[in-house]
Amino acid sequence: MRPGQNQAVQQKIDGNRQFASAYVGTWLAKEDALERTGKVFSKLALAADAALEEWEEMRKQSGDSHEMACKDGCDYCCRQPVMVTPLEVFALADWLKANLKKPDLDDLSKRASEYLNAMQKCEGFGEYPDVARTACPVLKDHRCSGYEARPFMCRAYHSFSLEQCIERFEHGDSKPVDHNSPALYAAVMHRVGAAQKIHEMGKPSPQVVLGGAIAIALTEKDVEQRWLNGENVFARAEVKSPNQA
Ligand code: SF4
Repeated sequence: MRPGQNQAVQQKIDGNRQFASAYVGTWLAKEDALERTGKVFSKLALAADAALEEWEEMRKQSGDSHEMACKDGCDYCCRQPVMVTPLEVFALADWLKANLKKPDLDDLSKRASEYLNAMQKCEGFGEYPDVARTACPVLKDHRCSGYEARPFMCRAYHSFSLEQCIERFEHGDSKPVDHNSPALYAAVMHRVGAAQKIHEMGKPSPQVVLGGAIAIALTEKDVEQRWLNGENVFARAEVKSPNQA
């Protein structure tokens, strides 16, 4: 199954995008958006998880014999740049603040600030994998410390080959990893639908690197309110092309 090959597949994936867009629209239209961020993301995350399960079921029923290679404690995928929307960053930051003990949150914020500083020294996206080999700052002891609120891409990036994950880690983005493509596209479309609607509603909607953006969300004051007021608070964590460096 490949997105684009089959109209039914494409329609389903478009449905994911439309759902995310509609839901984000209702979030930003309300006066109490600031209080509802976590709930809105949770709802979309549940939908992304359900889409992933559905695509996995369809894959197995189609006779595809690939086995999922992902295992508890394996974290190669957490050592590459993860693209996220402001919604995902705010929801994850809120969850971490509410659920981590202060020393753990302080440690995470320190790792995230180091990640953001390292990003600033990069020439552009091509170099971010080198930064990310230091691991996503949310990763601790080979586990995601914000697992329940992890972003869309983290939910759907399920590998069929540990060897390919190791290859990609060692050689960078040029090496693809076999995975359930429609499942990953469903997650991408949740992100795209959210990003488009955020833009339509007049808020800054950059694609940002999670490792740097979470530093800003955890360490700066009133970040989400400032973003709701129209400030591009994640500018330093935006994906740069080489000529922007
Ligand atoms: S948020 Fe969690 S799952 Fe996603 S890259 Fe970071 S540690 Fe890994």
